[in-house]
Amino acid sequence: MTDRTATGPALLRMPLRAESDVFLVRQRGREVAAAVGLEHQDQIRLATALSEIGRYLVVTLSTPARADVAFSVTVDAPAAGSDAALPAMVEAAPATLVIEVTTSLPAGSPERALAEAVVVGRLVDTFTVTGEGGRTVIRMTRRIPAPTGPLTRDRLDMIRDNLNTTAPRTPLEEMAEQNEQLLAALEQTRAQRDELARLNDELAETNRGVLALYTQLSEELDQTNRGVVALHAELEERSVQLRAASEAKSRFLANVSHELRAPVTAVIGLTRLLLDPASDPLTAEQREQAELIRGSASDLLSLVNDLLDLGKAESGAIEPNWSDVELRTVFGQLRGTVRAMATRPEVALVVVDPAPPGLIHTDEVLLTQVLRNLLHNGLKFTERGEVRMTAQAGGDGWTIRVSDTGIGVPAELQERIFEEFYQVPGRGSPTGARGTGLGLPYARRLARLLGGDLRVASEPGAGSTFTVHLPPRPSP
Ligand code: ADP
Repeated sequence: MTDRTATGPALLRMPLRAESDVFLVRQRGREVAAAVGLEHQDQIRLATALSEIGRYLVVTLSTPARADVAFSVTVDAPAAGSDAALPAMVEAAPATLVIEVTTSLPAGSPERALAEAVVVGRLVDTFTVTGEGGRTVIRMTRRIPAPTGPLTRDRLDMIRDNLNTTAPRTPLEEMAEQNEQLLAALEQTRAQRDELARLNDELAETNRGVLALYTQLSEELDQTNRGVVALHAELEERSVQLRAASEAKSRFLANVSHELRAPVTAVIGLTRLLLDPASDPLTAEQREQAELIRGSASDLLSLVNDLLDLGKAESGAIEPNWSDVELRTVFGQLRGTVRAMATRPEVALVVVDPAPPGLIHTDEVLLTQVLRNLLHNGLKFTERGEVRMTAQAGGDGWTIRVSDTGIGVPAELQERIFEEFYQVPGRGSPTGARGTGLGLPYARRLARLLGGDLRVASEPGAGSTFTVHLPPRPSP
């Protein structure tokens, strides 16, 4: 809890009796304010407040009042502070300038009128009008800011001495100073006005810039939007065209291969007849040519059959025949058929035995076709080592791998081998077997038809692994 403690007798006392005193009170008030360290603006505020009060008391009131004005300094100090501790407190505590105007007006009656008439509240920190000992006392205070240095008792004594010995300046001197102050204030106002105008100009310019940028960005955005819309429409159109072209191609493949099958089968049958020992004997050369015809016709028939299969798969004509299939059975059958293909002793065909028990919900025939295709390729592209088929069941379905130790597929071609007719160039099968380039695209189609997928991982020279993944429960 702090309280205000006075710092000895008032710095200055002066009477306020007539209009001429108003001027003096104003002038001396400013001197006191300057002496205790208030800054220039505060000095003027206090002087103005005093002059307003003085004018009200001795000029405005119909019966002029008389008054005494006292200037003193207080410090914030503990309420219990004793006089002995004062010097130290004065040095350390924040100080306040207090101006008391004790008037001849009787206490009570004019207080409100006075407070309203003298609008000086905002010029000082506190402004109060009270009745004390039957008199009306006006009290104003203004905080003395810390940086002005400690107001020691010695310094206050010196200020008091100075104020009481120096004569007030003449009205002319005071007027000249006031004029100077007025001019300085005017100059300051003008500078502020100029600065404000400059800032306004800058702001307007920035606004124009922002607006221009905004307009430009909006236009660019609009343009981009229009471009995107047009591109979108074009893409849509292209994809419709592509779909139509792809459907036409599938139809064409299906029709042509269908039409080709009958004559090719006829050619094979006829050459078989020609070569039949029961038929008329052929010369050695004729026999050789007939063998060539039969070989070529067989190749053509397998191409036609592959095309027909792929065409069917692509046109959506293949409808899987879903059932619960025991994978062991599929593996068993494949082991039998593929063993017949693996005629070379350098390649050991290992169909994993036993495949993990369990049922796959799938189409047995289509799945067998996919795996047979992969095993067949493995044998075709592996000179020595092994072709191995393994199966694994997990939470996300079945994984069947067909891996070999063959020539492998370079990384950049691993997606291309799933394109129709694509064969890795310059690397015919080391076993001499010929192909159509349709086996893998067909196998992948079927795997997807079964709700799964077919992928490859391979390292040239080391081998390849083809992985069929099938979901636990394919969604039709
Ligand atoms: P095809 O075997 O009739 O040529 P595929 O579509 O089955 O056609 O295979 C396409 C190509 O992918 C093959 O020509 C071959 O170059 C490559 N390829 C397929 N399987 C293997 C494999 N197991 N090892 C190495 N290359 C393979």
